[in-house]
Amino acid sequence: MTNFKKSHVILAALLFTQYVAANDKCKISIEANDAMAFSTKSFEVSKSCTSFEITLTHVGKMTKQVMGHNLVITSTADFSSVAIKGMSAGIDNNYVTPNDERVIANTIVIGGGESTSIKFPTGKFEKGTDYTFFCSFPGHYAIMKGKISVI
Ligand code: ZN
Repeated sequence: MTNFKKSHVILAALLFTQYVAANDKCKISIEANDAMAFSTKSFEVSKSCTSFEITLTHVGKMTKQVMGHNLVITSTADFSSVAIKGMSAGIDNNYVTPNDERVIANTIVIGGGESTSIKFPTGKFEKGTDYTFFCSFPGHYAIMKGKISVI
Protein backbone atom coordinates (compact mmCIF):
# COMPACT_ATOMS: atom_id res chain seq x y z
CA MET A 1 0.00 0.00 0.00
CA THR A 2 1.35 3.44 -0.83
CA ASN A 3 1.72 6.05 1.86
CA PHE A 4 -0.94 8.08 0.12
CA LYS A 5 -3.47 5.29 0.46
CA LYS A 6 -2.43 4.51 4.02
CA SER A 7 -3.05 8.08 5.11
CA HIS A 8 -6.52 7.95 3.61
CA VAL A 9 -7.35 4.76 5.44
CA ILE A 10 -6.18 6.30 8.72
CA LEU A 11 -8.14 9.48 8.07
CA ALA A 12 -11.30 7.48 7.33
CA ALA A 13 -10.82 5.52 10.57
CA LEU A 14 -10.40 8.73 12.58
CA LEU A 15 -13.49 10.31 11.05
CA PHE A 16 -15.51 7.20 11.77
CA THR A 17 -14.35 7.17 15.40
CA GLN A 18 -15.38 10.79 15.83
CA TYR A 19 -18.73 10.13 14.18
CA VAL A 20 -19.49 7.26 16.55
CA ALA A 21 -18.36 9.24 19.60
CA ALA A 22 -20.51 12.23 18.68
CA ASN A 23 -23.56 10.07 18.19
CA ASP A 24 -23.27 7.79 21.16
CA LYS A 25 -25.29 9.44 23.90
CA CYS A 26 -24.58 6.63 26.35
CA LYS A 27 -21.00 7.70 26.99
CA ILE A 28 -18.97 10.82 27.60
CA SER A 29 -15.31 11.76 27.85
CA ILE A 30 -14.29 14.38 30.39
CA GLU A 31 -10.88 15.91 30.98
CA ALA A 32 -9.43 17.22 34.22
CA ASN A 33 -6.29 19.34 34.48
CA ASP A 34 -3.64 20.77 36.81
CA ALA A 35 -5.78 23.92 37.25
CA MET A 36 -8.36 21.88 39.18
CA ALA A 37 -11.01 22.02 36.47
CA PHE A 38 -13.19 19.58 34.55
CA SER A 39 -13.65 20.19 30.82
CA THR A 40 -17.43 20.22 31.19
CA LYS A 41 -19.88 21.81 33.61
CA SER A 42 -22.85 19.59 32.80
CA PHE A 43 -23.95 16.57 30.81
CA GLU A 44 -27.06 14.53 30.20
CA VAL A 45 -27.78 10.91 30.99
CA SER A 46 -30.61 9.39 29.02
CA LYS A 47 -32.73 6.75 30.70
CA SER A 48 -32.94 5.11 27.28
CA CYS A 49 -29.36 3.97 27.93
CA THR A 50 -29.28 0.88 30.13
CA SER A 51 -25.74 1.77 31.12
CA PHE A 52 -23.59 4.88 30.84
CA GLU A 53 -19.84 5.09 30.41
CA ILE A 54 -17.59 7.92 31.54
CA THR A 55 -13.96 8.21 30.56
CA LEU A 56 -11.92 10.58 32.70
CA THR A 57 -8.56 11.77 31.41
CA HIS A 58 -6.13 13.82 33.48
CA VAL A 59 -4.43 16.04 30.92
CA GLY A 60 -2.14 17.68 33.47
CA LYS A 61 1.32 16.70 34.65
CA MET A 62 1.00 16.62 38.44
CA THR A 63 0.92 13.36 40.37
CA LYS A 64 -2.21 11.90 41.87
CA GLN A 65 -0.87 12.59 45.38
CA VAL A 66 -0.64 16.32 44.63
CA MET A 67 -3.35 16.98 42.03
CA GLY A 68 -5.32 13.75 41.87
CA HIS A 69 -8.73 13.69 40.26
CA ASN A 70 -11.64 11.29 40.22
CA LEU A 71 -15.26 11.62 39.24
CA VAL A 72 -17.99 10.78 41.74
CA ILE A 73 -21.74 10.92 41.14
CA THR A 74 -24.39 11.45 43.81
CA SER A 75 -27.70 13.20 44.04
CA THR A 76 -27.15 16.92 44.51
CA ALA A 77 -28.78 16.61 47.94
CA ASP A 78 -26.12 14.10 49.04
CA PHE A 79 -23.16 15.75 47.33
CA SER A 80 -21.69 17.86 50.16
CA SER A 81 -21.89 15.24 52.89
CA VAL A 82 -20.52 12.49 50.62
CA ALA A 83 -17.63 14.77 49.57
CA ILE A 84 -16.74 15.74 53.14
CA LYS A 85 -16.92 12.17 54.41
CA GLY A 86 -14.92 10.91 51.42
CA MET A 87 -11.91 13.07 52.27
CA SER A 88 -11.20 11.02 55.38
CA ALA A 89 -11.45 7.74 53.43
CA GLY A 90 -7.97 8.44 52.05
CA ILE A 91 -6.39 7.97 48.66
CA ASP A 92 -6.32 4.17 49.04
CA ASN A 93 -10.12 4.30 48.88
CA ASN A 94 -10.05 6.95 46.14
CA TYR A 95 -11.50 9.42 48.66
CA VAL A 96 -14.83 7.62 48.61
CA THR A 97 -16.21 6.04 51.78
CA PRO A 98 -16.37 2.27 51.16
CA ASN A 99 -19.91 0.95 50.61
CA ASP A 100 -21.46 4.42 50.71
CA GLU A 101 -24.80 3.67 49.07
CA ARG A 102 -25.34 7.32 48.22
CA VAL A 103 -22.56 7.05 45.63
CA ILE A 104 -24.07 6.14 42.27
CA ALA A 105 -20.71 5.72 40.57
CA ASN A 106 -17.09 6.72 41.01
CA THR A 107 -13.81 6.36 39.20
CA ILE A 108 -10.44 5.77 40.81
CA VAL A 109 -8.15 8.74 41.52
CA ILE A 110 -5.72 9.38 38.66
CA GLY A 111 -2.72 11.62 38.16
CA GLY A 112 -1.40 13.59 35.19
CA GLY A 113 -1.26 11.66 31.93
CA GLU A 114 -3.55 8.92 33.18
CA SER A 115 -7.02 7.91 32.07
CA THR A 116 -9.75 5.74 33.57
CA SER A 117 -13.30 4.81 32.75
CA ILE A 118 -16.38 3.46 34.47
CA LYS A 119 -19.55 1.95 33.11
CA PHE A 120 -22.56 1.80 35.39
CA PRO A 121 -26.29 1.08 35.11
CA THR A 122 -28.59 4.09 34.75
CA GLY A 123 -31.23 2.42 36.92
CA LYS A 124 -30.25 4.43 40.00
CA PHE A 125 -31.05 7.71 38.27
CA GLU A 126 -34.55 9.09 38.65
CA LYS A 127 -36.05 11.72 36.42
CA GLY A 128 -36.79 14.93 38.30
CA THR A 129 -33.89 14.47 40.72
CA ASP A 130 -30.80 16.69 40.49
CA TYR A 131 -27.46 14.91 40.29
CA THR A 132 -23.95 16.25 40.74
CA PHE A 133 -20.61 14.94 39.54
CA PHE A 134 -17.52 16.06 41.40
CA CYS A 135 -13.91 15.31 42.29
CA SER A 136 -13.61 14.08 45.85
CA PHE A 137 -9.87 14.76 46.17
CA PRO A 138 -9.52 16.90 49.34
CA GLY A 139 -10.28 20.53 48.62
CA HIS A 140 -11.44 19.99 45.04
CA TYR A 141 -15.18 19.42 45.31
CA ALA A 142 -16.08 23.09 45.84
CA ILE A 143 -14.72 23.93 42.37
CA MET A 144 -14.60 20.63 40.51
CA LYS A 145 -18.27 19.89 40.17
CA GLY A 146 -21.05 19.95 37.62
CA LYS A 147 -24.62 19.02 36.98
CA ILE A 148 -26.09 15.86 35.50
CA SER A 149 -29.50 16.10 33.88
CA VAL A 150 -31.48 12.88 33.60
CA ILE A 151 -33.60 12.83 30.47
ZN1 ZN B 1 -9.58 16.84 41.60
